[in-house]
Amino acid sequence: MDTALLTAALAKRKLPAFRERQILHAARREFAASWDEVTTLPKALRVELAEEVPFSTVTVEHEERSKDGSIKLRLATHDGFPLEAVLMRFDQPHARGTDKKLSRYTACLSSQSGCALACTFCATGSMGLGRNLTEFEILDQFLELAQRRIGTGDGRIDNVVMMGMGEPFHNYDNVMAAIKNLNSPDGPGLAARRIAISTVGWVPGIEKLADEPIQVKLALSLHAPNDQVRGSIMPVNRKFPLDRVLKACRTYRTKTGRRIFIEYLMLEGVNDQPEHAKELAHLLGPDNGFHVNLIAYNPTGTDYIGSSDEVVRHFAAILERKGVSASYRISRARDISGACGQLAAPVAAAKRKAREAKIARMAERDAEAKATGHAERLETPTEGERFEADLEARAAEAASV
Ligand code: SAH
Repeated sequence: MDTALLTAALAKRKLPAFRERQILHAARREFAASWDEVTTLPKALRVELAEEVPFSTVTVEHEERSKDGSIKLRLATHDGFPLEAVLMRFDQPHARGTDKKLSRYTACLSSQSGCALACTFCATGSMGLGRNLTEFEILDQFLELAQRRIGTGDGRIDNVVMMGMGEPFHNYDNVMAAIKNLNSPDGPGLAARRIAISTVGWVPGIEKLADEPIQVKLALSLHAPNDQVRGSIMPVNRKFPLDRVLKACRTYRTKTGRRIFIEYLMLEGVNDQPEHAKELAHLLGPDNGFHVNLIAYNPTGTDYIGSSDEVVRHFAAILERKGVSASYRISRARDISGACGQLAAPVAAAKRKAREAKIARMAERDAEAKATGHAERLETPTEGERFEADLEARAAEAASV
């Protein structure tokens, strides 16, 4: 909800300040989904305000729930700009002494509709920039996701990552304002250290964040160990080459004492070779407050191919040997990149249809072979082939919300 609109609507009616507090409490702490659910207000007032102040600044256009409990939303601003928000579920081990399975949820939010930075592997990058999202459009993505968690009896959303569409530091003030609202005890009350901002390496933003009193996490999309490779996949590297980005990171580290999370997308034959790992270890240095997250590439209609598991493990082992902590969490990365690839929706949906048709054709052929007594024919798809086709279809689905 846009609080400027709300304040004006209440002031016009000369309503006392506690009304605003009631409304914001319902929206931001109880996760009411509409004016109807703000039951502390007289019905007539609710109806009046609904005319003037949209309950949410974003409209949900498409909602998809994956089997694992994750939720993906495609949304639009009131002037029609598309964005995305994803709720990722992480299953925890059973709580001690119970058979209750705990889940934790992370909300992945967008800071812009589209993005100006044109990273070559990113679907959002290929759209160009629509516009910056307002602080309310960012906060409302979280509230839309939180509303969908109500009444499930499952864990709450306790982490937020600014890893949806856009470059958060191109929209610094609105992102920080939204984060302050997420952090506020009058709002969802999320601990600042559970909120992460992911940046392409926009130096002025890193420098500014270093001076903020709020303890948010910083993640840097590095994706390459040298200027040559980085420049070839991320045009922003021409403006802010690696030495400038890392200098800003070190200053941030000195000022805040906080770790920086390095995101490193593993692209076959581009940045995933042992020499790249060695170069990366050298660039970051041992025990230096960086943690590397190796990320699986989510196909977005480019020519890149994700590195094999074996290559990733070897890469991680080299980093560890050289004293750089690294992790590779395929499920998380897939979910995140699912968010990144979303705006390739028409392409991904078309691909999904093609793959589903392929699976159906294989099943038909299977049945036919059985009927004609040639079940063991060589061209009958193997379990492996069927599994692979199914996996592809599901990956396309994940990218298509
Ligand atoms: N602009 C910010 C946040 C956006 S995306 C940034 O650059 O950090 C969040 C992460 O997903 C970034 O690390 C981004 O580089 C990565 N990403 C982009 N496209 C991807 C893809 N196809 N597969 C996996 N990760 C991708």
